Amino acid sequence: MIKVVVWNEFRHEKTKDSVKAIYPDGLHAVIKGFLDKEEDMEVTLAALDDPDQGLPDEVLENTDVLIWWGHMAHAEVDDALVSKIQKRVYEGKMGFVPLHSGHHSKPFRKIIGTNGNLSWGRNQKEIMWTLMPAHEIAAGIPDHFLIEEEELYSEPFYIPQPDELVFGAWFEDGHIMRAGACFYRGGGKVFYFQPGHETCKSFYNPYVQRIITNAVRWAAPNKESYEIPSGCVHVKTKTVDEFNA
Ligand code: ZN
Repeated sequence: MIKVVVWNEFRHEKTKDSVKAIYPDGLHAVIKGFLDKEEDMEVTLAALDDPDQGLPDEVLENTDVLIWWGHMAHAEVDDALVSKIQKRVYEGKMGFVPLHSGHHSKPFRKIIGTNGNLSWGRNQKEIMWTLMPAHEIAAGIPDHFLIEEEELYSEPFYIPQPDELVFGAWFEDGHIMRAGACFYRGGGKVFYFQPGHETCKSFYNPYVQRIITNAVRWAAPNKESYEIPSGCVHVKTKTVDEFNA
């Protein structure tokens, strides 16, 4: 089983009626709702206002993939928690999937190493293009699909060059965006995915749901094989002569 935690700041849904109308139980509940249909996933919810900001050590240490949605309260996330998240990803024990405004979240910035800045604008039509059809995260996704309404996110997006760029977005106003980007960091994997503004219904879109589901499987650590390099190597390798013998 892949143990998934869907972490949500969970503030907009409590304070804005327009958001509450779309995500009455929080957008994380909708994400859990579609992931719960997967037989290989065990999904729990966490929120910023929960004890230990939703991620006490015993929860974090049991998480295979952490999905992250934050926006208005990035600064409130505890720096010690952010360091623990980064460490767990670098050690290959946990995958990290920041969504939408998670581009500015502390854990995403700390893991990838840049500020994640981008430009944004009014809600509008978006076309998501699949740039790597053979990628595991693009399984079951057509060459492009329409998102009826999403917040404009635009390049330049200040991320390191992605290791794999799986999706690119076009917006009605003519902007483009690296919308689905994979990063390998240490022994772990990160997938940033752009849709998911709190006043839009993108988390109900079946293709968005499929991409997030695929991303969870892709980002899950390979427990069978990972080994954490942790210092000086004492085992002598073969010499060239021994290899040739
Ligand atoms: Zn937004």
